[in-house]
Amino acid sequence: MKLYNTLSKKKEEFVPLEEGKVRMYVCGPTVYNFIHIGNARPMIVFDTVRRYFEYKGYDVNYVSNFTDVDDKIINKAIEEGVTADEISKRYIAECKKDMEGMNVKPATTHPLATEEISGMIAMIQILMEKGYAYEKNGTVYFRTRQFKEYGKLSHKNLDDLRSGERSLLVTGEEEKEDPLDFVLWKPKKEGEPFWVSPWSEGRPGWHIECSEMSKKYLGEQIDIHAGGEDLVFPHHENEIAQSEAANGKEFAKYWLHNAFLNIDNRKMSKSLGNFRTVREISEQYDLQVLRFFMLSAHYRSPLNFSAELMEASKNGLERIVNAADNLKFLRKSADGKMTEDERRIYAGTDEFVKSFEEAMEDDFNTADAVAAVFEFVKYCNTNVGEKSSKEFLEKLFEILVKLTDVLGIVADKKDEILAEEIEKLIEERTEARKAKNYERADEIREELLEKGIILEDTREGVKWKRA
Ligand code: AMP
Ligand code: ZN
Repeated sequence: MKLYNTLSKKKEEFVPLEEGKVRMYVCGPTVYNFIHIGNARPMIVFDTVRRYFEYKGYDVNYVSNFTDVDDKIINKAIEEGVTADEISKRYIAECKKDMEGMNVKPATTHPLATEEISGMIAMIQILMEKGYAYEKNGTVYFRTRQFKEYGKLSHKNLDDLRSGERSLLVTGEEEKEDPLDFVLWKPKKEGEPFWVSPWSEGRPGWHIECSEMSKKYLGEQIDIHAGGEDLVFPHHENEIAQSEAANGKEFAKYWLHNAFLNIDNRKMSKSLGNFRTVREISEQYDLQVLRFFMLSAHYRSPLNFSAELMEASKNGLERIVNAADNLKFLRKSADGKMTEDERRIYAGTDEFVKSFEEAMEDDFNTADAVAAVFEFVKYCNTNVGEKSSKEFLEKLFEILVKLTDVLGIVADKKDEILAEEIEKLIEERTEARKAKNYERADEIREELLEKGIILEDTREGVKWKRA
C-alpha cells in the first residue's frame, strides 16, 4: 500500500510500526459552531483511510481530538452570555450527530483538550528541562531554533521564515527570544477559563494539545498523523518540534493532508457569505450524498462544491443503492445454488475487486475506487435476472456491500420500520400461530428479519430488537 507522505513529498510504501496495527491521529475541529463542509472533508477521507486499513485486516487505533478551549469558543460564549464549556459541549454533541449522518465512525478515543491539561503541563516541563522552552512573564515559549530539524515537514527554511515573520516582533510578543518561537502556555485574560500551572494561571497553546493527546493515547511514536493542508504549517511543524524534542524520537512516520474544499470555485468564508454547515446540507440531502461527493475526488486534489456536483453525486449514489435493492428484491423469490454459467460470471467479479483495491492501494484514490464500484454495478445489472440463483445473488450482494462499506456508503439500506408497524406484525404473527398457521407466522418473522428486526419468543411474550 502506497501513501503520499508530506514529510518526504513522495508516495511511500506503508510499513506499520507494529505488525498488523495502525496508530493514527487526526486533528479534530475547534468546537464553537456547527461544523462546516470543509471540516467534513478530513473527517470523511480519513475515516475512509481507516476503513480501508480495517478491510485489510489491520487493527486501527484512531484518535481524533476536539479542541474545546480557544479564543473563538470564548468569544462565542461572551456573545451568548454562557460559559465556554456550555458552547464546546453543545457543539461537540452537534458534531457527533453530523458525523453519524455522514457515517463517520466514532474514533477509538475522542480526547478533549480541557481534560488533558495536566499532561500538557508535564510535557512543557520536559521541554523546559531539556532547554527547548523558556518562560517570560507567565508565558512559556518553544525555542524553535533549538530544534534543528524545524521546517522539515513544510519544507521551509528557518532564515526565510525569519524574514517573513518579522511582523511578529510588533504583535505584543516582543519578549520572545526569537520571532520564530511559539507559545506553549499563556496566562489568562480577565474572564477566560484557566488552569493552574508552575508559570501562571492560564491555558495551553493549541499545538501542545495535539502533541500531548497523541502521546497519551497512541504512544510516543505513531504511524499516521493527518489533517487538512492548512495545518502543515505552523500546526503540524510545531507538533513535530515539541514531540520530537520532548520524546527524543521520530513522532509520526507518515503525514497525510487533504486539500481544501471550495464553494463555486471560491474559498469558503464567512465574509464571502458562501459558508455552509453540514447541518444545512442535511436539510436538502441525505448526508450519504455529501460523503459520496467527497470521495468522488482524490483527497489531495482541491474539490469544488456546487449544486450540480451534488446532484451528480446523488444520482451516482442512487445507481449503487438501486443495484443493491434489485439484488435484494430478486433474492426474495430466488433459490438454489449457482449454475455453471453463474460460477463463470462470479469468477469475473475478481477483476472489479482487484481494481478497487489497486485504486485504494495507490494513496487512497477513492475517485478510481468509486469508478470500480460503478463498473461492478453495471456487471451486476447485466448479469442478474429472475432466473438467477439465490446463491449467485447473495454472493454479488456481499461483494457490493463489502466494497461500499470501505467507502462508508450504505448500499444495504434497511427500510426503516416503525415500532408501531413492528408491534402490529408481531400481533398478527401471534394470531397466526394461535390459528396454527405456522407458514404465515414464519413469513412474518422472515419479513421482520429482513428489516433488521430480531424476534425473541419468551415466557412473557414476544420481544423484539433491532439488529
Ligand atoms: P479547524 O476547526 O479550523 O481546526 O478545522 C478542522 C479540520 O478541518 C482541519 O483538519 C482543517 O484543516 C480542516 N478544514 C478546515 N477548512 C477546510 C476546507 N475548506 N477544506 C478542507 N478541510 C478544511
Ligand atoms: Zn492538531
